[in-house]
Amino acid sequence: MSTFLWQSIAFGPIFSRRLGQSLGINLLPNDTKICSFNCIYCECGWTLENSYWDKDSFLPAEQILKAIEHKLIDCREKNSVIDSITFSGNGEPTLHPSFGEIIDGLLLLRKRYYPSAVITCLSNSTQLHRQDVLEALKKIDNPILKLDAGNEALFQLINKPTISVSQQEVVQNLKKLSGIAIIQTLFLKGKIDNLYFDNSSEDNIGAWLSNLEEINPKQVMIYSLDRETPQTELIRFTREELEQIAIRVRNKGFQTSVF
Ligand code: SF4
Repeated sequence: MSTFLWQSIAFGPIFSRRLGQSLGINLLPNDTKICSFNCIYCECGWTLENSYWDKDSFLPAEQILKAIEHKLIDCREKNSVIDSITFSGNGEPTLHPSFGEIIDGLLLLRKRYYPSAVITCLSNSTQLHRQDVLEALKKIDNPILKLDAGNEALFQLINKPTISVSQQEVVQNLKKLSGIAIIQTLFLKGKIDNLYFDNSSEDNIGAWLSNLEEINPKQVMIYSLDRETPQTELIRFTREELEQIAIRVRNKGFQTSVF
């Protein structure tokens, strides 16, 4: 399995199906993935079992903002289009201890260099117990938050949290972003340790739809596998299958996009 890690703080812009021309921001180290999940489909590869992070694992906010500013100046000089400035990178961006400070700094940089670009954060929703993270996500245009499973067993199987967090804690915290959160769900099925799973099963979809009703997201994004995965024997869903799921979400009154 080939893994992929971004080698700089600001990268791109690269074309994204969801976001258009997207300038990526990586708040994690260049040589290691740091994440509170170990998703079986992660394009960065497995989270190392002995991975441990503390505040010293991250670059200071000032250094990160300087690197972003240099990149924005460079993009402007080249007349590069940037539709979205997007936090993604080598793991979970909200684990950065100065995430709020970085968002505040980026809002100023956006105003100065690319006022029409939106700010997007792709997050796994595990840090929403932190007030600084919640407040920061409320300030940006697209807080895109992961919810792949409707029950605890599938949550543990698909997302494999590396910290102590339950599916219900994630759902309860997502409710704090009612009307703001954009929920993203990746649908997949396959076999792990000879155990067959499918997060489009009727049981899981029913529970997941109930979770969505509780959370009341601004929008729902559903998609399937697109790249190589660390876990083998995973099966992607077709666009038609995803559209069938999207109909059920739209029937609940939520704006829904399929990618
Ligand atoms: S949350 Fe994102 S970065 Fe973390 S393991 Fe899952 S897919 Fe990878």
